[in-house]
Amino acid sequence: MSIQVLDQETINKIAAGEVIERPSSVVKELVENAIDAGATAVTIEIKDGGISFIRITDNGSGISKDDIPMAFLRHSTSKIKSIEDLMNVSSLGFRGEALSSIAAVSQVELITKTADDFTGSRYVIEGGNEISLEEVGAPDGTTFIVRNLFYNTPVRRKFLKTAATEAGYVNALIEHLSLSHPDISFRFINNNQNKLHTSGNMNLKDIIYGVYGRDITSNLMEISGKTQDVEITGFIGKPVICRGNRGYENYYINGRYIKSSIITKAIEEAYKGYIMPHNYPFTAIHFKINPSIMDVNVHPTKMELRFSKNEFVYRFVLETVKECLANRELAARVKLPD
Ligand code: ADP
Ligand code: MG
Repeated sequence: MSIQVLDQETINKIAAGEVIERPSSVVKELVENAIDAGATAVTIEIKDGGISFIRITDNGSGISKDDIPMAFLRHSTSKIKSIEDLMNVSSLGFRGEALSSIAAVSQVELITKTADDFTGSRYVIEGGNEISLEEVGAPDGTTFIVRNLFYNTPVRRKFLKTAATEAGYVNALIEHLSLSHPDISFRFINNNQNKLHTSGNMNLKDIIYGVYGRDITSNLMEISGKTQDVEITGFIGKPVICRGNRGYENYYINGRYIKSSIITKAIEEAYKGYIMPHNYPFTAIHFKINPSIMDVNVHPTKMELRFSKNEFVYRFVLETVKECLANRELAARVKLPD
């Protein structure tokens, strides 16, 4: 076989695989875009596990008509201009890969309007090919409808699990998005059924209640701590609600559901002596970390984070969680004689 340069459509399909693995990846990217657009309310609706239908509606900034085709180009973003900006990135997105990737492997309909424009726009793009762009009446904000994910990449489609399993992934994702943004009202509808609705009133405990129920919510301790580059707020579970896997270990860094092996290690170390080995605590912690000590540009899905001050972050998290646990011990001891 002779060597050939791949055509653009093939390149985009391959690149899409990096970012879009399943319906929940589409939901993640589109909801993060809504959050970056300043939305205070986001509705997520899926059918058939999101394989045949995903609709995300937000009340954010909207996209003006002239910018729409651009937004679907690879590496087009309104969020950074150069590599220097990466050091201080606070938006969830910045790679400009999501819309082009999603459009490459599905049928996308976009309806959007900015507050400054009189009319909205409707844009249709399928398998990366622009179908239409027209003016329509629309409320301020953006609606994305993504139909028939992987309809043109049957191999990928085969790797999807059942609709119920895919819906479960979307559900878990939305729980994390809700917990990471108590300031945004989320509504999740699966096959016409209301699954979750958060108020956006900033109350993290209400959201924990909505997601995990009363048993967990009545066994929480409030945690807080602040130092120059790191601020900690949120809740950690009393040792009684620990469990045998890490499924309850939630934490969010600058509004992202993200993993840091340093932070996980620090939290688990702090609980040593309070819970049995191979048990893991419940946590719903928000970290505000100075972006200049983080490197978020590690992987396209941005799940693992590195710090330039690992030792410092480790110590601070360990001490703060330990102190919270110790204070509870103290409180328990004071009350003991009954
Ligand atoms: P990124 O989020 O990395 O910038 P995306 O491909 O996800 O890249 O989005 C491309 C651009 O489209 C964004 O930078 C933003 O300007 C615009 N955009 C996407 N979704 C929305 C939305 N819901 N509301 C407003 N603008 C949006
Ligand atoms: Mg994005």
